[in-house]
Amino acid sequence: MRQGHGTNKKTMHPTTIVINSEIFRNNLRAIRQSVGGKVKICLPVKANAYGHGIEGISKLAEPFVDFLAVACLKEGVSLKSIGIEKPILVLGAIDEEQIPGLIKNNFEITISSIYKAKLVSDLCHKMGMTCKVHIKVDTGMNRIGIKAKNAPSLIDFVLSEKSLDLTGIYSHLAESENDDKSFTLSQIEIFRKTANYAKSKKADIICHLANSGGLCYFPESFFDMIRPGILSYGYFPGEKIATAPLNQINPCFTLKTKVVYFKAIEKGESVSYNRRYKADGLTRIATLPIGYGDGYRRAMTNKGSALIRNGKYTIAGTVCMDMTMIDLGSNGTAYVGDEAVLIGKQNGKEISVEEVAGICDTNCYEILSSFNERIPRVYT
Ligand SMILES: *Cc1c(COP(=O)(O)O)cnc(C)c1O
Repeated sequence: MRQGHGTNKKTMHPTTIVINSEIFRNNLRAIRQSVGGKVKICLPVKANAYGHGIEGISKLAEPFVDFLAVACLKEGVSLKSIGIEKPILVLGAIDEEQIPGLIKNNFEITISSIYKAKLVSDLCHKMGMTCKVHIKVDTGMNRIGIKAKNAPSLIDFVLSEKSLDLTGIYSHLAESENDDKSFTLSQIEIFRKTANYAKSKKADIICHLANSGGLCYFPESFFDMIRPGILSYGYFPGEKIATAPLNQINPCFTLKTKVVYFKAIEKGESVSYNRRYKADGLTRIATLPIGYGDGYRRAMTNKGSALIRNGKYTIAGTVCMDMTMIDLGSNGTAYVGDEAVLIGKQNGKEISVEEVAGICDTNCYEILSSFNERIPRVYT
């Protein structure tokens, strides 16, 4: 394909998310090692692969995983468009309008009621197709999923429909990262009963329950397949595991940009909207081309930081839609074009996603998935 001036991902925008492919692959290898060869791995790539770029990540991951999981039809279609051949599981509840698209693309879909199973089955008949189905069982999340006590009748119904191929049965853990393990253990036991029922009817059905927390802290939750999202990208949902192989897991995500402007300001001068920063002496201010319009949160105002040259410097004033200012102090220097790291490492210093999430009073998932399409993803 012809690339015109400035259309290369690396040069299109000074702000980029750089994914270290080798670290990401190592994370998947560590996960594979920790569960052994018999348990399948389903990689959730929903929400633009937790902000890492759904297409790039899925291509990197395909040789290492058995399934890819997306939230919705639209995400599944983007995987098809780049030629992904591994099975694609759509985790979300299905909307009637989307059923034909789900069937046509051979996605494996989530069914939580006899009503939806009938809709899919009828459409399959009309289209002369079959559809692979995973039944979602609710074991305590109360989001989607048929109540465990009603699961056998749904299992029987799906098995009785010729156009539906019952491939899997699954549930989702609500607090597998918590120190108190009692609720998760009860979810696992409820799921086990339903899984046993399903297996008694169809032996090769894939039973799956574990998210990252299940993988890290509940070996009894593995069943036939695991679905580790956040851990695959390098983050522990709870306490870090200090033993091999999971201690080999590391973040592969760096958010970096470049200084585009630099100026000195005097004592008492303010910076940015609503003047929430005031200089208490002569200081130097660098401007970065990133803001909440990229998904860099406004909550970082006066609190977040950037790594520039050998220093870690605080944000000066309100984060704008497209720009953010950094206080370099009275002796700080930066040149236009200098690299600024907002998440990740530079010269031995680090700003972690956990640190950013703490400032924003949220978790790593929300920070990572907030970065939007304006920022190109680059894979090294
Ligand atoms: C997002 C998701 C996962 C992955 O969760 P992590 O905590 O990121 O490991 C697994 N299963 C389902 C159903 C999900 O929606």
